[in-house]
Amino acid sequence: MASIFSRIVNGEIPAWKVAENDKFLAFLDINPLAEGHTLVIPKQEVDYIFDIEDPLYAEYFTFAKKVAKGIRSVIPCTKVGIAVIGLEVAHAHIHLIPINSIYDIDF
Ligand code: 5GP
Repeated sequence: MASIFSRIVNGEIPAWKVAENDKFLAFLDINPLAEGHTLVIPKQEVDYIFDIEDPLYAEYFTFAKKVAKGIRSVIPCTKVGIAVIGLEVAHAHIHLIPINSIYDIDF
C-alpha cells in the first residue's frame, strides 16, 4: 500500500506544496512545530532515509538546502533547523523547521 506521502505525490491527498521537481517534493507539515515547518521527500517511496541511493541522496540534500533558503527568505527566523525522525510515516522525509530559539518549539 502506498504511503501517505506517496498519496500526496500522486495528488490523492491534498497538501500545501512549497517546492517540487521531478524527483522531490516539499510541502507544509499538517501538524507544524513552527510556522513554515516543511517536509521534504523523495517522490520515489523509500522507507529509510539512508537507503536512498548515493547520487539521489546528494541531490536530495541539495534540494532540501534550496528549500531551506527559500523558507528563510519568507519566514523571519535565525535558522531553518533540520531533523530526520521518521517514526510516524514510513516514507523518507526531512523536517525543515524555521527557528529563532529552541524555546519557540512546542514539543
Ligand atoms: P515523523 O515520521 O518524522 O515522526 O513525522 C511525520 C510528520 O508527517 C509529522 O510531523 C506529521 O505531522 C506529518 N504528517 C503526517 N501525515 C501528514 C499528512 O497527511 N499531510 C501532511 N502535510 N503532513 C503529515
